[in-house]
Amino acid sequence: MKELRELTEGRHNYDEVLDDGFFEKMNDGGEGDFGILGGRVRVHFEAEKNGLGAVLGLDFEGEVRVECDRCSEDLELEIKGEDEVKLAKEEIEEFDTAHYVYESIVLSLPLKRVHEDCLPALPKGVRFVDEEPHEGLGDGGMQKMADNPEWSKLAGLRDKLE
Ligand SMILES: [Zn+2]
Repeated sequence: MKELRELTEGRHNYDEVLDDGFFEKMNDGGEGDFGILGGRVRVHFEAEKNGLGAVLGLDFEGEVRVECDRCSEDLELEIKGEDEVKLAKEEIEEFDTAHYVYESIVLSLPLKRVHEDCLPALPKGVRFVDEEPHEGLGDGGMQKMADNPEWSKLAGLRDKLE
């Protein structure tokens, strides 16, 4: 990725495409790991540099892959955003563009990362089919169902049909 210190004075417009390799490199597995597994994001840069410092503006659009908070399967998120940073001359040398872009993308992610219509994964060892002898709902269970408005509606319907 092009760094500000490599640019000549003046205005510069350029694009970069971030791919899986970029996100793999940025995920350090520690505090700086925000769970982006991969993606494809187009970033457009507008940089202006002069004797005093530089301004770097960027806008990005694309998709990133994260883990669904509910089922832990891959989830594709469409992302879009923009950002701008102003730097004094002495800051340009140390400025890490890749890191800045990565942070901007992380900040654009939604707080909730779940598939639409996602069902939670069953905890390990839990099975759909209950192998224990079934004891039925019992009176308490029936009462619980009666408390459910949807069930009451159905019960009402059944009464009408009878
Ligand atoms: Zn999910």
